[in-house]
Amino acid sequence: PELPGRGELTVEDVGFGYREGRNVLDGLTLAVDSGERLVIAGETGSGKSTLGKLLAGLYAPDRGTVRFAGHDLATVDPVRLRSRIVLVPQEVPLVDGTLAENLAMTAGSPDRAAMERALGLLGLTEWVDSLPYGLDTAVSSRTLSAGERQLVAVARAALTDPAVLILDEATAGVDHRAAARIEEALSALAADRTLIVIAHRADTLARGRRLLRMPEGRLTAIVRETAD
Ligand code: ATP
Ligand code: MG
Repeated sequence: PELPGRGELTVEDVGFGYREGRNVLDGLTLAVDSGERLVIAGETGSGKSTLGKLLAGLYAPDRGTVRFAGHDLATVDPVRLRSRIVLVPQEVPLVDGTLAENLAMTAGSPDRAAMERALGLLGLTEWVDSLPYGLDTAVSSRTLSAGERQLVAVARAALTDPAVLILDEATAGVDHRAAARIEEALSALAADRTLIVIAHRADTLARGRRLLRMPEGRLTAIVRETAD
């Protein structure tokens, strides 16, 4: 079925484990409105990244369902799903090639003008201009910092134009300035989209947000605010 551009993301009584008899998530229920901001915080090993992958439809739950706009993710065409729900993983994968090639990796074949527009929207034009050959600069995991790799991932997401954007530890291990730049790019991108941020602590990213509930399962906190 065709997936709508925007929609609610729901988790209904989800159980998931990597090994028989050891559930990482157990009876987790959660509803994320279209356009909502959600922070998922919890200790190492509490299941945050696992939940992120389930929300993106990369893992199927052992029990219960995850739905986007009412569609069970387990029954949705993966290619369509990837265009509506984008997960930026803890380790951003890069290919050996130019920045432009890396930006084009996940979004069909965007042209230079689309890339430049997306970078402008995210406030990243200056950063790209500061690279020796701009968009044609060769990049790799060795030449880009952790923060810059996250910026590449956010720009990729902008080119994909998803309804839901999930960031797993986007600002972990990056310095203060890089974190500010990532957060700025994110707020530009988040307008009119659902944004789910996974973090160890709910401090900076959750500032001013409202704690709604402690879910079952072993996550410490789920913090949210509505977009308007
Ligand atoms: P961190 O804060 O360190 O990123 P996390 O909250 O994201 O941790 P998860 O990565 O979701 O936690 O892991 C939850 C549990 O599942 C942990 O006990 C982990 O060891 C286990 N786990 C995660 N991935 C796998 C896997 N691919 N195979 C087996 N066990 C796994
Ligand atoms: Mg994790």
